[in-house]
Amino acid sequence: MKVANPDYVVGKKPPYAMQPPVTRPSFCVCDVCPAHRQRKAQETGRTMDEVWSEPLVIRARRASPDPSNYRATAAAVQDVLVNEPLRHAAAVKAAEEAKLAKQNARCFGDIVDAYRLYMQSEGKRYDKAVSRINSSSARSAAIAMRTRSTWPTSARFWRRSHT
Ligand SMILES: [Zn+2]
Repeated sequence: MKVANPDYVVGKKPPYAMQPPVTRPSFCVCDVCPAHRQRKAQETGRTMDEVWSEPLVIRARRASPDPSNYRATAAAVQDVLVNEPLRHAAAVKAAEEAKLAKQNARCFGDIVDAYRLYMQSEGKRYDKAVSRINSSSARSAAIAMRTRSTWPTSARFWRRSHT
């Protein structure tokens, strides 16, 4: 018997569930990956580093927007299959960039120390620069301390230090 309606089933129709296989990128940062990667490493007998450094397919279980409608559920599955890999890739990229930014960040004290050493090694005008370095360090320390204070206090401080 040929039936045009894809929702037609004999007997009671089950609710359509969404669980499409989604490929997670290597070094994925999602919530479900750690447990799945752990199990994959145990099943295959490989190291966690190997499992993390390659993509892994995990079923993405989602609630269907309309569990009684085959076409709506299938369209939502296609949407998940297209968008989820993009979302995971973007999350990995953002995490890498955040890590890199943290590695490259230098606190102001390090810069002041480097400048102080540079001026000493160059041996020129350190005596004049030292007061500027010290006042600059003191000001940045004061700013760091006053960051949590209320605005009027900060405004008074800025007026005092810039006039
Ligand atoms: Zn993941």
